[in-house]
Amino acid sequence: MKKTIKRNILLNPGPATTTDSVKMAQVIPDICPREKDFADLMKKLRQDLLKVVHADNKKYTSVLFCGSGTINIDICLNSLIPQNGKILIINNGAYSSRACEVCEYYGLNYINLKFSIDELPNLALIEKTLKENSKIKLVYSTHNETGTGILNPIREIGALAHKYGAISVVDTTSTLAMLPIDIKKDNIDFCMASAQKGLQAMAGLSFIISNKEIIEKSKNYPKRSYYCNLYLQYEYFEETGQMHFTPPVQTIYALIQALKEYFKEGEEHKLQRHLKTFESIHKGLEELGFKKAIKKEWQAGLVVSVIYPDDENWNFEKIHDYCYKHGFTIYPGKISSLNTFRLCSLGAIEEKDIKNFFKVFKEALISNNISIPVIYKGGN
Ligand SMILES: *Cc1c(COP(=O)(O)O)cnc(C)c1O
Repeated sequence: MKKTIKRNILLNPGPATTTDSVKMAQVIPDICPREKDFADLMKKLRQDLLKVVHADNKKYTSVLFCGSGTINIDICLNSLIPQNGKILIINNGAYSSRACEVCEYYGLNYINLKFSIDELPNLALIEKTLKENSKIKLVYSTHNETGTGILNPIREIGALAHKYGAISVVDTTSTLAMLPIDIKKDNIDFCMASAQKGLQAMAGLSFIISNKEIIEKSKNYPKRSYYCNLYLQYEYFEETGQMHFTPPVQTIYALIQALKEYFKEGEEHKLQRHLKTFESIHKGLEELGFKKAIKKEWQAGLVVSVIYPDDENWNFEKIHDYCYKHGFTIYPGKISSLNTFRLCSLGAIEEKDIKNFFKVFKEALISNNISIPVIYKGGN
């Protein structure tokens, strides 16, 4: 069976554009996931996920869950904190704010160490907070705040966590398999991601690369959720090699194919492809006069947050709809104080897709009577 599938270019921050081979990998004979054949696939898949972050399989393991990326945030926070422990959240964006909400919903004891969304977190202040609060057992940070595109210093944050006897949990959802991560050197005990972002597979499967010794320690921590408990899922994997409840079977086949393609492309080549795509997004925006929300040197190289121009004809929806009709998806921003939209370089896309995008984007501006270069009150 050969089917041609229309290729859409997704410039939203995930799910990402996938290859046809990944899409087609989902079309497989029906199989009950409790069969040994499937268990063998799972075993290899979990090993391959460790390789992506260069994790030693004696020290780390991958624990999979059925759900979007947010399920990982929920699981790590509710599962890895002892009864009287406190969580420190390094918060400079929408995704770390989401972690605060999770703590709120579970009634966990946490400190929301808030920084401006367009600034890097202050390491001295993080250290001071750790020094003054000996109950902090878990430091939570977000690698790339996908809402703005800022890259946080997780290695330094992790080192501070360890210095003060806390574990380091990092949301690497929008960097894993895009920027090189070395779990040990980066001082990470737990990091999380989903199949549909850097790995360019399908939504519905998430995973946490976990330090085994620490998971073992969490065995007697309070169980705050039935479905979303890290230790219970880990224990089930240890005993059976399988997910506790029904896995997203076809999504797993797509991820297996995506991992093959990932290792074939290689960490360094893939990074260079994303960086070229990113540079070409910047170039296109600069030619049209757009302003960005975050200093370029602080950006992770994956998400560009663009400030709406002050043009009375600017209407994001209309620009979006025009681009969408032509096969390109652009996405609104996630900065409450500023009107922005985002263009992202993740997924199976490259420089020439961005060049094609800017042709369409420029047509969209022209057909909406928006001045080019775009205008800002107070100048560009
Ligand atoms: C995409 C993303 C998530 C997960 O979001 P979902 O909508 O649940 O898939 C979590 N953290 C970061 C940093 C992300 O980019």
